[in-house]
Amino acid sequence: MLDFNHIFRSVATAFAETIWPTRCIGCDLPGALLCKNCLGSLETINPALACPRCGAPNGWLVCTECPAPGSLDTHEEPIPTPFSFTQARAACSYEGIVKRIISSYKDKDELRLAPIIAAGISAAIAGRQLGEGMRPSARTDNSVACDAITPIAYEPPESWLSWADAIVPIPASPKALKRRGYDHMLIIAEQVSNSTGLQLMHCLSTGTTVDQRLLSSTERKHNLEESFSVKPSMAPPAHVILIDDVLTTGATTSAAASALLKSSTQEVRVAVFARVW
Ligand SMILES: [Zn+2]
Ligand SMILES: [Zn+2]
Repeated sequence: MLDFNHIFRSVATAFAETIWPTRCIGCDLPGALLCKNCLGSLETINPALACPRCGAPNGWLVCTECPAPGSLDTHEEPIPTPFSFTQARAACSYEGIVKRIISSYKDKDELRLAPIIAAGISAAIAGRQLGEGMRPSARTDNSVACDAITPIAYEPPESWLSWADAIVPIPASPKALKRRGYDHMLIIAEQVSNSTGLQLMHCLSTGTTVDQRLLSSTERKHNLEESFSVKPSMAPPAHVILIDDVLTTGATTSAAASALLKSSTQEVRVAVFARVW
């Protein structure tokens, strides 16, 4: 039987493609939403070299973004950890095309980018670098032989897949939910759950009504206090991976992790698409 709705949608999509062809958000060439070249040049983070505590790139030995466990201040006092989660991993640095992917997805309703963000978060959970194995080798665009450079030997970080009991997305604020009409991280969490096989628990709610991006750091902290809570009748499991699009100061994810830890969760780790540093 003919499905007229389906035919209408296909014709409308083809018509729109003719008038406004899809352009790459990286280089603006018509064709794919993110062309192969731009996909291959994403600012991805090698998880083996990143700070295991906050996900900052190249911070595995010394991190400039967070105090190392046990580090002391100038008065030899232990510096309190700013995070209530134990570890964080990010797929990319928040710069260049990565920035555009996130702003197109969040602010321009470009939902076709969700699989890319979900793939990044899934790779971070598995301890892999996004796009591993699909990057063009340095030889293809570099005539200088690279054999003289010995690659750093490193152990790939452990996968969190067998550790985690569930993934929990950071919930959208009521205001953002009203503006977009959908919870942008819930869509991504569903895709991460499908690709990793991890259970998705949408167990957090937030009373935050102000866009965090418009606030100063002091206002943010105040706004976040008590803003997250576990939904009544939901009991999050012991080991939870919180997922979000961007990790900036870690204040939002820390507040959300605290709500889980006040409930039935014992440890929270964080996986995000992009790290601001
Ligand atoms: Zn491109
Ligand atoms: Zn760090």
